[in-house]
Amino acid sequence: MEEVSPSVPVRKPCGTFKPPAIYQKLMVDNLTVIRPPILKIFYWESFEITSLNRKLRSNRIEHEHTFKIPIRQIHSHPLKMVFWIRNLSATNAKLTLKRIQNCQCQPLQTQVGFNQFRQLFHCPHRRLLHISQEILSIKPDEVVALTVTAYFFLYGEHLLTYEVHTEDNRKFLWHFHLEISSFDPEKCLLTKELLPGSWPQAAQYESHRASTECVAPPGGLSTTGLRK
Ligand SMILES: [Zn+2]
Repeated sequence: MEEVSPSVPVRKPCGTFKPPAIYQKLMVDNLTVIRPPILKIFYWESFEITSLNRKLRSNRIEHEHTFKIPIRQIHSHPLKMVFWIRNLSATNAKLTLKRIQNCQCQPLQTQVGFNQFRQLFHCPHRRLLHISQEILSIKPDEVVALTVTAYFFLYGEHLLTYEVHTEDNRKFLWHFHLEISSFDPEKCLLTKELLPGSWPQAAQYESHRASTECVAPPGGLSTTGLRK
């Protein structure tokens, strides 16, 4: 342990004073979910966009955010989400996205042409989430779409991470959390508020399905009761 002398505060010469950096402000202006089985507001809240916007508008150099994608049944349709990002600052903003590997899969030597080989990842996890643009350039007050598509072909919970770098040296970690299940009526429920006091066990479920409106049908999530 180093001893720190409490006596005289360190005085820096005036010439080296640097004002704290003021970072470019960004925000998610809108959200489009393609083929949404539920209302957009539900996704807005699941992804905690209001909290993300606080981080994007703050002067923090780094932040972390988790987009919790509502549980989906295996092999359901891909979910395409468009995050409309606005540049609130007076100068151009540039975001660079880089995938961070969370799984243990190793790249494999792969033939890509005649006598040509490259180290490629064949891991299925990378295919769970796709972001179409790796670089976003946003002019002042412009809104640019960031398109994220999630695929549901692997059982279980997965965390897909992207590191986002800005031109003014901020760094964000954005995690996309996917939960993919077999058909489970309990898990697929968005709300239990409309159910009577007790809910039948899974074994009894089939016989109740015809008479119950607020559970997801085997074809995918649906909320007849919530749809506008
Ligand atoms: Zn993997």
